[in-house]
Amino acid sequence: RTPRVAICGRPNVGKSTLFNRLAGKRIALVADEPGVTRDRKEAWGELAGVKVQLIDTAGLEEAPPDTLPGRMRASTGTAVDEADLVLFVFDARAGLLPEDRHFAAWLRRAGKPVIVVANKAEGRGGSNAALEAYELGLGEPVAVSAEHNEGVSDLIDRIIEAL
Ligand code: GDP
Ligand code: MG
Repeated sequence: RTPRVAICGRPNVGKSTLFNRLAGKRIALVADEPGVTRDRKEAWGELAGVKVQLIDTAGLEEAPPDTLPGRMRASTGTAVDEADLVLFVFDARAGLLPEDRHFAAWLRRAGKPVIVVANKAEGRGGSNAALEAYELGLGEPVAVSAEHNEGVSDLIDRIIEAL
C-alpha cells in the first residue's frame, strides 16, 4: 500500500504550506468528517519518484471533544494512527513553545516514526534555529522554508529514508 505521511503541529507553523509544497498541485479535499473537512486534506505526491499519500492535519490543540478544536484534535489523532510517518512541524522563528513540547511528548508515546521539521528557517541562521529541537528526543531536525522552498529536497531525502 502507498505509505501515508501525516503533517502535524500546532496551528500556523506552516503545515499547509509544506503540504502544498510537497504535493504540488495534486490536492484532493477529503469530505468524510463534518466540521473538520476544511482542515483535513489528502493528496498523492511523488517524492523523488516514490509515491506517497500526504495528509495535512488540522493542527494539534488540546480541547474538549465536543468542540470544533476538539474534533480537529481527534481527527489529527486518527491521521497519526493511520500514518506510516509523521512530519512534526514547528516554527523555527518562534522557537519551541509549550504546546510543541506537549505534542512531541504525545508523538513519542504514539511510537510512530517522526521527522521533526523546523519550518520558517529561511536565510542565514535558519538551521541554527532548528537545533534546539534536538531536545525533543525525536531525532535530528530538518530545517526548511516551505514558503521559500529551502531545505525541501533534504526533507524529501529524509522522508524516503524513513519509509
Ligand atoms: P498551518 O496553520 O500550520 O497550516 O500554517 P499555514 O501553512 O497556513 O501557514 C501559516 C502562516 O505561516 C502563513 O502566513 C504562511 O504564509 C506562513 N509560512 C508558512 N511557511 C513559511 C515559511 O517557510 N517561512 C515564513 N516566513 N512563513 C511561512
Ligand atoms: Mg493548515
